[in-house]
Amino acid sequence: MANEDKLDRIRHSMAHVMADAVLEKFPEAKIAIGPAIEDGFYYDFDLPRPLQEEDLEEISERMERIIEEGKEFEKRVVSRQEAADFFKKQKQDYKLELLDAIGPDEEVSMYTVGKFTDLCRGPHVDDSSQLNPKAFKLLSIAGAYWRGDEHNQMLTRVYGTAWTNPKELRQYLQRLEDIKKRDHRRVGKDLKLFSTHEEAGPGLIYWHPKGSRIRLAIEDYWRSEHRKNGYEQLYTPHIGKSWLWETSGHLGFYNENMYSPMQVDESDYYIKPMNCPFHIMIYKSDLHSYRDLPLRWAELGTVYRYERSGVLHGLLRVRGFTQDDAHIFCTPDQIEDEILEVLRFSLNIWKDFGFSDIKAYLATRPAEDKSVGDDASWNQATKSLKKAIEAEGLDYEVDEGGGAFYGPKIDLKIKDALGREWQMTTIQFDFNLPERFDMTFVDRDGKEKRPYMVHRALLGSIERFFGVLVEHYGGAFPVWLAPVQGKVIPVAEAFNDYALSVKKDLLAAGYRVEADLGEDRLNAKIRNAQQDKIPYMLIVGEKEQQSGSVSLRRRSGKEQDVMSLEDFHAFMQGKIDQKEEL
Ligand SMILES: [Zn+2]
Ligand SMILES: [Zn+2]
Repeated sequence: MANEDKLDRIRHSMAHVMADAVLEKFPEAKIAIGPAIEDGFYYDFDLPRPLQEEDLEEISERMERIIEEGKEFEKRVVSRQEAADFFKKQKQDYKLELLDAIGPDEEVSMYTVGKFTDLCRGPHVDDSSQLNPKAFKLLSIAGAYWRGDEHNQMLTRVYGTAWTNPKELRQYLQRLEDIKKRDHRRVGKDLKLFSTHEEAGPGLIYWHPKGSRIRLAIEDYWRSEHRKNGYEQLYTPHIGKSWLWETSGHLGFYNENMYSPMQVDESDYYIKPMNCPFHIMIYKSDLHSYRDLPLRWAELGTVYRYERSGVLHGLLRVRGFTQDDAHIFCTPDQIEDEILEVLRFSLNIWKDFGFSDIKAYLATRPAEDKSVGDDASWNQATKSLKKAIEAEGLDYEVDEGGGAFYGPKIDLKIKDALGREWQMTTIQFDFNLPERFDMTFVDRDGKEKRPYMVHRALLGSIERFFGVLVEHYGGAFPVWLAPVQGKVIPVAEAFNDYALSVKKDLLAAGYRVEADLGEDRLNAKIRNAQQDKIPYMLIVGEKEQQSGSVSLRRRSGKEQDVMSLEDFHAFMQGKIDQKEEL
């Protein structure tokens, strides 16, 4: 049996054991569902009182005892009536609802372990001796609506994790600890990078000075790379009249994510959820010959999209964000080169930000009646995407029929320092908008033709990318991104003036530096700088002042290198140019 499969059985069986333990403790409890999930399991309960953290301990102890008793998981295929009678008698209303949802041709099976019988499809372990009482942990309590519907009863969900042995459990708990330590909301607060304000509107990000410094570094780099790669940069409005969104079709298929209109001069204006229609308006304000193409137009465009308040999450899921958007307009002849170019460009950008483990996902045409555009275009577009992925030697998966109705796409997922995958880059063909806006170019033969249009966001949203970046580095940013690249620390007050002159010199050269002239002792100042994850501390005293030098101490080490101020400039510039961490 594959290990994943075995773990799934263990985890789902643990959910049964937990339900058994909960029913021992609260015989009047009603039970809902208890599936295995990634790394663990949960069970939803309707309980007579709210659950406390202390209850988890007691439930765990009961679970250990149940496991040690080594009971069998006994499966019985029963008739609907039998199952209905059983759960009616037990007053398990949720199970009755679940029973109703089982299709007429499906088997109805009940599993019993010890005194506890559940309506379940399985599979499970054979008996609870295959569960390790030292390799599970109940992790948390949350609220969950029955069937995920907020009109239904709120249930208590208990999450747990389970593994084959205690060592695996320990490693997993350590990983959870690491994830928690790097949580961008926590690091963002500690390092004063950003905030959100429920009272001023949830899902909207406030960038503080230190976070803004990082964003500026990201944007400066982004702009300069785009220039080098043949992109023009655009600025477009934040609102557009309903005509624009009717023409683009967004008011039809994207309506749910758009905010209500505001009235201006008796017209409805909508705040933009996307930049594309604006770029198209710019395209359409000129005639284009095949000789002008390809056009690569980029914009750091701020958009607003409605998300339910329940799914908002720090920087990762927000209601307003800035896309690093671009649109490529080209001829059919140019498309292969353009796609290869944009994929290469993306991979280089990811490398510079410190991500090298990247996987591609190619989504192809959905059923013909659910998509627009002709076969030839879809085939050519899909071929060009595939060819580019293969040319770059990327590991990839194909999602057959998983594309949007308007064109095939590549998504890139990057792996962070903890091995988590994040979907970031999208390269998306569009056969819909050029048609709807009647976009044309004049080809070699003098005829008007449709250009190809590709939407492309490399980082995705700057906000979300920033969240991922914070977690990837745990706040210890490489020098080129660090909000404070160096901190000048005098060993005593007598050297404050020299410290200030070092700071002034570095600031004038464009580096982000501060000086700590406070009353703290030297060790405390060093500790503070380390806590702020500042790459370089520049310690200055008598010796340094006399020779015009600094003692360089890295945030990760204890050694100090004395170098002239001039050498430090060159040293730091080298690290920034190479995008090295330290
Ligand atoms: Zn089961
Ligand atoms: Zn677009």
